[in-house]
Amino acid sequence: MLYLDANASEPLRPAARTAALVTMEADGNPSSIHAIGRNARNIMESARETVARHCFARPADVIFTSGATEGNVLAIYALGRDRPILVGATEHDSIRATAPDAIILPVRSDGTIAPETLDEALAQNPGALLCLMAANNETGVLHDIEFAAKSCATHGALLHVDAVQVIGRCNRDWLGMGASSLSLSGHKFGGPMGAGALIVRQGIEVTALTKGGGQEQGRRGGTPPLPAIAGLAAALGEVYEADKIASYRDEIEEFCINLGAIAPGGTAPRLPNTTNLALPGVRAETQLIALDMAGFAVSAGSACSSGKLAASHVLTAMGYGDLAGQAIRVSLPWNMQAESVEKFTMAYAAMVKRALRRAEHSA
Ligand code: PMP
Repeated sequence: MLYLDANASEPLRPAARTAALVTMEADGNPSSIHAIGRNARNIMESARETVARHCFARPADVIFTSGATEGNVLAIYALGRDRPILVGATEHDSIRATAPDAIILPVRSDGTIAPETLDEALAQNPGALLCLMAANNETGVLHDIEFAAKSCATHGALLHVDAVQVIGRCNRDWLGMGASSLSLSGHKFGGPMGAGALIVRQGIEVTALTKGGGQEQGRRGGTPPLPAIAGLAAALGEVYEADKIASYRDEIEEFCINLGAIAPGGTAPRLPNTTNLALPGVRAETQLIALDMAGFAVSAGSACSSGKLAASHVLTAMGYGDLAGQAIRVSLPWNMQAESVEKFTMAYAAMVKRALRRAEHSA
């Protein structure tokens, strides 16, 4: 099986696996006072320093969580209290479901938000919380966080950045630009599942949603998932070959466009590893199944818990209409090999050929 679904979860980095296994063997709870507990605490604090360094933050501002869903929810509760909340139309469900009454900022057809749309919405809602993802998980489209942060500063707003898809791929100093908080998730950059972090700028109070033993300075109760945290930190230290991955992505995209696919978001600044490919008239589910049977793991829209596919809210917001149910996401993993490009394009071509034949029969 060729895995091309890195935005759902990057393959585990060997260094992360080793760090997680070593930590599992070490035993101990970081809250315990004895030597074994102190050793566990050292592992956790060293991981905290690594996360802080990669995110241009202070270790004290890093709150370990179970992942980015928890980080996003915690951010909205901590920063959004008594403020109007603004969210981009293509945000992740963890944001949209936690702020169901939020004011939605529409995106343009390339998936970005017009600067004047953002500025006007912030001007009309002074002191708001704006939730904006650094990169979209379905299209890879990057939002202009620097502009958003400046606009937030002008209008007395706070900015929460869902940085899940960019951390480990193209880190930037979002806090330095003026963001108030950042969420990240270890398994999205080659760490194990089960650990993530919310980073909150000094001076912003965070009240725990899970109250209990006072862990994370009272901001997140519960024993932290230490092996996953150690793995997360180890994965952050690994090199990501963005240019190489982007060249593979571009080759795949160009090939598929030549066969009739449309690439939503393809003209906007994007993550290096992501292409969204809509094939007019062919349901996403049909494409996924055909590729799955040919040995390729890709994804589409959002899979709900029943395993059925709903039309992508991201492409719908970009104005793609029926095509929102006819697009697949190909997201290349960090360990993508050059020969996999040809393997995938051949399988895609075979799928398109079959779809055309079927369309001819039914015409
Ligand atoms: N935000 C974005 C942009 C994501 O892609 C995801 C994962 N699909 C999440 C948040 C949630 O992350 P986690 O799996 O760690 O809960």
